[in-house]
Parts: sequence; structure tokens; C-alpha cells
Amino acid sequence: MIVNMAEGASEQQIQHVIERVQEAGYKAHVTRGTTRTIVAAVGSGRRHEIEALKAAPGVEDVVPIAQPFKLVSRQLKPARTVVNVGGVALGGPQLVVIAGPCSVESREQIFSTALAVKEAGASLLRGGAYKPRTSPYDFQGLGVEALKLLDEVRRHSGLPVVTEVMSTEDVDIICEHADMLQVGARNMQNFALLRRLAIIEKPILLKRGPSATVKEWLLAAEYLLSGGNSQVVLCERGIKTFETETRNTIDLAAVALARELSHLPVVADPSHGTGRPSLIAPISRAALALGADGIMVEVHPCPERALSDGPQSLDFEGFRRLMASLAEPLKAVRLPSPDPEVLGHSGRGNGVTLAGSDQA
Ligand code: PEP
Ligand code: MN
Repeated sequence: MIVNMAEGASEQQIQHVIERVQEAGYKAHVTRGTTRTIVAAVGSGRRHEIEALKAAPGVEDVVPIAQPFKLVSRQLKPARTVVNVGGVALGGPQLVVIAGPCSVESREQIFSTALAVKEAGASLLRGGAYKPRTSPYDFQGLGVEALKLLDEVRRHSGLPVVTEVMSTEDVDIICEHADMLQVGARNMQNFALLRRLAIIEKPILLKRGPSATVKEWLLAAEYLLSGGNSQVVLCERGIKTFETETRNTIDLAAVALARELSHLPVVADPSHGTGRPSLIAPISRAALALGADGIMVEVHPCPERALSDGPQSLDFEGFRRLMASLAEPLKAVRLPSPDPEVLGHSGRGNGVTLAGSDQA
């Protein structure tokens, strides 16, 4: 339930509502906007006692939160959240590009990649130290050695680093070396891990599970927020469908929907989302056009030699071309001629003509 305080409600009135919410068995979550304050009753308690607050002084109305994810919901916090990743603002006006190899493989590999992606315009470096691999015989990541390299390369390049955490055991050591912790797709519903990450002071990149609905994804984020970590960025990385030509099916509607339902920043990962280097630029442009706050892309100095995800990785030149393509404007839209004769003649007159189409 949400208690909307009236404009100009006094601090004393707000405090009274907070106390009543707690007495009714809920946690009180307060959002202070520029003109008004919202007090949310989160958890489970005696609902009728919250409904009765309609009669309390300074209260405008009491409304249910429509979605099961409460703290993540835009109903509770209409203003967008900006997440600070080592000094880089994710979710603000600037689009953020996260780039780097799937796995950290060597000093030379991660240093050369960091410098190349930075020069091309990336603002965060990614690289896996602990890798979730489908087969136990595949490269599992360099672990602590990779974390140390990430720490070093961060100091050398100035790029904050993002790396995946797979287990609660590794949380402390990763926090010592990284600026942001990624929860991989396979761990999206690892609730023990989510609960542990809720009590750290580092931002989290929460990937959508390959078969998770948008609601399940946002509820996974709710674990983090309700446990105390509000620095969460959502990442759409493609879901499993019947399609086999792409590695996963990137769900761009989910990017737009997650931004509509939630105040958290949303990024798209076209590398895992398609598995095809040729689709990374078009999908990135589409994601940014529909409102994504950033993209995450795999880049390797020599994709054919990569120890993981080489076939979907861009080389440095490919990444530079991608960055250049992001700056290109979308196709211009021309309005049709106002001449009714022309409109009548074309038989359409639907109001919009795309440049390059055959409608004159
Ligand atoms: C990755 O980012 O390299 C990765 C393993 O991603 P996902 O969890 O989306 O498969
Ligand atoms: Mn990968």
C-alpha cells in the first residue's frame, strides 16, 4: 500500500504515518519528491490499518501498489534512479557503454582491451573472473588472479570494472577488487546470493534469466532493494525461444517495459542476446532508440582465440565501428505533403512517410 502525503504535509504528519505503518506490521519506505512525500507500507501486515490512514492529517490518499514488486516499481518512485558505478552515472542523461572480454584471460589481453575500448568511448570495463559455463570441461575463469588484474587495469585505465559473482563465498573478495558485481542470467533466482548482495555497498548488474518473465526479473531486483541495496541496474540479455539462428532471443520490448514498470536503469546485452557480431550494432541502436540507459558488449583482441564467447565478440576495429554507428542519427521521418491531391492519390495518407520508402 502507498500512502500519498498531501503537498505541504508537515514533518510531524509524515512521522505519524511512518509510525502507524510500522505499528500495522509493515516496513515503512519513504520517498521524498520535490513537492510531496510517499510512504509505502512494504511486507505483510494489517492492511485495514493502512487503509484507515486516509483519515489521518496530512494524508491525501491511500492506494494499493498494483505490482508485486514494490520498491522496484515506478508507482512508488516515479523519478528514475541513477546508479553510480565508480564515478560513472548509469541511468542519467549519458548513455553508458560497458565493454570488454567475456573472460579475463591474461594481463596483455585485459590491458589492451581496456585501452582500446576506452579510446573508442566505453565508460565501464567488463571481464569475467568466475565464469558460469555450461560444460565443466570449459574454461572456468582465472578467479582471484583475474580479480587482481581487473584491479590493476582499473588503476591503469581509469575505467571502473564490472565482474560476475557466482557464489556468496566470493562476494567479499570481489568487492575488494570490482566497482560493480554482475549477477549472471543463470543466477537471477539464486535467492541466497541476492540476499547476500542486498547488504553490500556496491552496485549490482542484474541479468534477466534465460527463461524468466519480466515480473520474475523485477522480483529478483526486489530482493536486492528490499534487503537494502538500491543500486541496481537491470540487463536484458536474451531469452530462450524456439529460434536457433540467434543464440538467444533479445527481448527489446522487455527493455522498454522494464523502464516503464521500474525506476531502475536498464541496459541491453546484444552480445549474449544474439550471439552474432553482425547484429550487435543494429540491436544496440534499437535498444538505445527505445530508451535503454546503456549497452554491454563483449570485445576481445582476437575473438578467434578467446577462451569463452569468441564467436560473438567484436575485435577492436569492430568495436570502434559499433561506437561510430551509435552516433549516427536514426532515419529521418518526413511528414507527407499537405496537398490533399497527393494524399488522395497515394490512397494512404497515414500521416508519416519514412525516408527511403516508395511513398513520395
Ligand atoms: C557474461 O556476461 O559473460 C555471461 C556469462 O552472461 P549471461 O549470464 O547473460 O549468460
Ligand atoms: Mn560471455
